[in-house]
Amino acid sequence: MEAPHSPATADAAAEVTVRLTVNSPEEMRELGLSLAKLLRPGDLVMLTGELGAGKTTLTRGLGAGLGVRGAVTSPTFVIARVHPSLVDGPPLVHVDAYRLGGGLDEMEDLDLDVSLPDSVIVVEWGDGKVEELSDDRLHVLIERATGDTDDDVRQVSLVGIGERWAAAGLAGLGS
Ligand code: ADP
Ligand code: MG
Repeated sequence: MEAPHSPATADAAAEVTVRLTVNSPEEMRELGLSLAKLLRPGDLVMLTGELGAGKTTLTRGLGAGLGVRGAVTSPTFVIARVHPSLVDGPPLVHVDAYRLGGGLDEMEDLDLDVSLPDSVIVVEWGDGKVEELSDDRLHVLIERATGDTDDDVRQVSLVGIGERWAAAGLAGLGS
């Protein structure tokens, strides 16, 4: 008979989930502006959602909120784009991980000329590829509302993983 395992209380990763309804592109951008206020250097934000879900629209709001230079666009022809801060804050590194087959190694090979721990990294389609960049990370899942309701409605789930997000104020985004 095996000895029972003791519960891994100390090691259990903290996880915070906030669910929001976003009714328009403008509201998605505003969510980005609000979320940007919570972001710190070294943060990893992973955006998941089908094409046209609103990942880049949200990133545009993040870029505006962070006060970075350059238009945030879909990084279609580049894997990653660095947007330097205009306000002495962290740069925004916007990654399209859909094109990033090899994960972390490839990310480091990109020669981004920026220190990732000093940056805010936002990855579109990053699941399963970039988790190892940071133990703490914020997953943002964007889903279209199903059924024949308003086309512009999105359900957004923010899942903060790790101590970083436990007291970051994510819940305030819902109010
Ligand atoms: P993704 O990066 O996920 O492929 P984009 O942000 O590039 O998506 O495009 C989203 C498209 O959907 C834009 O044309 C935007 O105007 C539209 N849209 C409609 N409703 C919303 C919404 N609630 N949030 C974000 N985008 C929306
Ligand atoms: Mg996009």
